[in-house]
Amino acid sequence: MTGSRPEVLIIGGGVIGTSIAFHLARQSVRVTLVEEKDLASGSSGACDGLIFMQSKKPGIHLEMALKSLERFQELSRILPVPLEFRQTGGMVVIETEEEYRAMEAYARDQRSIGLDVSILDRDQAIQKEPGLSPDILGAAWSPLDGQVNPMGLTLGFALAAKKAGVRILSRTRVLDLVFQNNRVIGVETGRGRFFGDVVVNACGAGSAGIAAMAGLSLPVKPRKGQIVVTRAARPMISHCMISAKYIAAKYNPDLAREAGEGLSIEQTENGNLLLGSTREFAGFDTRNTLEGIRTILQNTSRVVPGIQNLEMIRSFAGLRPWTPDGLPLLGPVRGLEGFFMAAGHEGDGIALSPVTGNLVSKMILEHPLEFSMEPFSPDRFLDSKEGSHG
Ligand SMILES: Cc1cc2nc3c(=O)[nH]c(=O)nc-3n(C[C@H](O)[C@H](O)[C@H](O)COP(=O)(O)OP(=O)(O)OC[C@H]3O[C@@H](n4cnc5c(N)ncnc54)[C@H](O)[C@@H]3O)c2cc1C
Repeated sequence: MTGSRPEVLIIGGGVIGTSIAFHLARQSVRVTLVEEKDLASGSSGACDGLIFMQSKKPGIHLEMALKSLERFQELSRILPVPLEFRQTGGMVVIETEEEYRAMEAYARDQRSIGLDVSILDRDQAIQKEPGLSPDILGAAWSPLDGQVNPMGLTLGFALAAKKAGVRILSRTRVLDLVFQNNRVIGVETGRGRFFGDVVVNACGAGSAGIAAMAGLSLPVKPRKGQIVVTRAARPMISHCMISAKYIAAKYNPDLAREAGEGLSIEQTENGNLLLGSTREFAGFDTRNTLEGIRTILQNTSRVVPGIQNLEMIRSFAGLRPWTPDGLPLLGPVRGLEGFFMAAGHEGDGIALSPVTGNLVSKMILEHPLEFSMEPFSPDRFLDSKEGSHG
């Protein structure tokens, strides 16, 4: 490292890479960010912008999400792009007796650690959200949940970082890592070599490919999600919504197959509805499928029947960076100097980006941390033979 301030090279211009760049730049660190395509061209530009607290597992995951939530008001003021952040409150829609019992227990756990969540019966839920179908059984409700424009957030981090001196190189694909002894000192790209005292892998669903360049086998897999966008409509729903099935699908792929795909519904400031979403392991394929679109439209219009009258204008799919335990990989890797992982946020990267940028920048600068980062250590996935490279 050059003195006490390392120069940092970040691979990946999604919400995670740009948030880390922004947080480092605020500490006057010299940063270069390289992005294969354009900023927000990965999952961060092909997703919803839900900031749900209720969907996070009680424990470190929820703690992190709450820390992140605290930052959105401030970021809305200081980032140079409108974030469209609104704390609308969120509903987890319940459709079966089995889900009702599961959500009651889930909400009880969340309340025991102080989260403001309550279970609404059918009438209470419909009173709060009149567009809901009378066939639902109820909803878990929290005033904490909200939404943001994910592309606005990514570009906001990037522009603020750039203004603070971060060099951003788009259309620059990392082809290999550059080593000196057992240390990563830079990257080889289609546009030449770039160096850093610390190289951060923030490549989302593609991060396992970058890790493999260092001989590491890390289990971050692309988990595809398809989304349907409707033409702008009058205000139709006032809260963002997911279903109890969504929570099952997120945490337990086997249960997801039994329970069917979950759903998500949010209305943007422009009035478009974002209807989601599927959860599929389909490699790096980002094509929409008729089956995916049909499932989304059936699921969302069952819960909010007014959706049937809207016109669909486009669809897209993104790749969530899935990990086996649902937690991201954040921090250095045993036996490999100069290399940090910051990837694997699955369906929570937008919500967790402020806290991730803050924590990872502090780890790089060796500043004190408010959390133990142990549960996020990439080392949890290394077998005993890994950890020495060059
Ligand atoms: C359908 C869907 C809905 C979602 N909904 C939500 C939601 O409501 N709330 C929420 O919080 N999260 C949501 N997510 C998850 C969220 O989108 C991700 O967790 C987040 O965007 C991950 O950000 P990232 O920066 O790690 O990855 P990405 O945004 O994918 O960025 C990684 C970047 O690395 C670049 N890259 C890859 N390889 C290389 C290379 N070799 N050289 C240079 N650059 C490279 C890519 O081009 C890409 O731009 C959703 C995801 C999907 C797919």
